[in-house]
Amino acid sequence: MSQPGASAGRADDWFDDLLDDRFDDRLDELRDARAVLGAVMVGSNVTSEQRTTVTTMLGTVPPVNTLEPWITLGTEPGVAPGRLERVRALLNTDDRFHGVERLGAQAPAGLRELRDGLRAYVVAGEQEALDRVAAGHRLVLRVTADGPALVPSDEEDHVAGLLVDVLEEHRAGRLQRLKACANPACQWVYYDASRNRSGRWCSMGECGDVMKARAYRARSRAGA
Ligand SMILES: [Zn+2]
Repeated sequence: MSQPGASAGRADDWFDDLLDDRFDDRLDELRDARAVLGAVMVGSNVTSEQRTTVTTMLGTVPPVNTLEPWITLGTEPGVAPGRLERVRALLNTDDRFHGVERLGAQAPAGLRELRDGLRAYVVAGEQEALDRVAAGHRLVLRVTADGPALVPSDEEDHVAGLLVDVLEEHRAGRLQRLKACANPACQWVYYDASRNRSGRWCSMGECGDVMKARAYRARSRAGA
């Protein structure tokens, strides 16, 4: 792996080189294997045939801790696409499954109010709290190479940055796919990728601790 402290650009180069030099002709196979391994990690049903395929490709199924880099590439159920994942991660800092508040005292001012207002909006359609938070943060129109865009008037205003994500993800029809698990003891916020937005649970028919524990670890590593 890249050295600690290496720039993101160098880490990307390293990964590209690895794929080009060694795995180019097997990339699709590796993607399939990654998906199967992701399913294994969250305890979903995996056929013995799929297990055999992965075992044949990799020689053996690696121990769980070395599987994590595969999983964090985005095969985990409930992960939202693109910038919406930032929003989902924020909502799940109110971790009702574990009964833990994960937003530390060092969190930027206003982040907790945004989270709570946004959860009420996403889960119950309640507008007032989110509207009140939004009123305290200024966005301005800026014309960029990609066209006009709303941006925070203060670059340091993280809440305003997230509000831009909320606006754009809603316009794209994705914010509406964020849901809280219907299990009252869980309430984990997940992205419902089902075709007709009919999902009710955080993970296919299951509602276990494995996925959430791992998601939390990954987020901790990311320094959130
Ligand atoms: Zn759940």
